[in-house]
Amino acid sequence: MNILAKWARNISNHLCWSIDTCNGNGKELAERFTSVIHHTVNKHRFPNNKFYKKCEHPKYTREETKSKEWLVIGSAPHEKLIKIILQASLVKDLEHMAEQINTTLLEVFHAEKIRYLPKSVYYRMEKMILGTQIAILDHHYNIDREQKQSLDDEGMPKLLYSIAYSKANKRRVAKIIKEKKVTSIYTIS
Ligand SMILES: [Zn+2]
Repeated sequence: MNILAKWARNISNHLCWSIDTCNGNGKELAERFTSVIHHTVNKHRFPNNKFYKKCEHPKYTREETKSKEWLVIGSAPHEKLIKIILQASLVKDLEHMAEQINTTLLEVFHAEKIRYLPKSVYYRMEKMILGTQIAILDHHYNIDREQKQSLDDEGMPKLLYSIAYSKANKRRVAKIIKEKKVTSIYTIS
């Protein structure tokens, strides 16, 4: 399994946690979420951040540090992760998302003049937005997944294709079969 795919679930969970703890501040949400590009290389302090300057998890023991599959700074998977996480639109969406959650809460408070937090309304909106974000992440993780392989009669790896009929070319063409999609474990209900 691709090393980034192994981190995908953690990163999705980290996004949920960042939303929960960002105090409705879009910039803080972005800092919390994007810190994952450092955390994944075993770096847990971010002096350049304004709001989120270090990871909030307890310090890892030597065993814990050893058991994690850290990425290597400058390696292809880490470069790819940086590209995914920092993608302008994704970060912009995050900032917008924090504001939206906040506005929705305020709107509900003012419009309904309710005396307690309308959990169902709040959570429904939160989950809807979360679902969108996680779908974006899943999409990026899967967009260039590798071609599926199996073994031939002699035990040598072979790349898998399927045959499809191309209407445009009026002939049969080989299509690449890709690895199974990785989806987030976080469930939206
Ligand atoms: Zn960390």
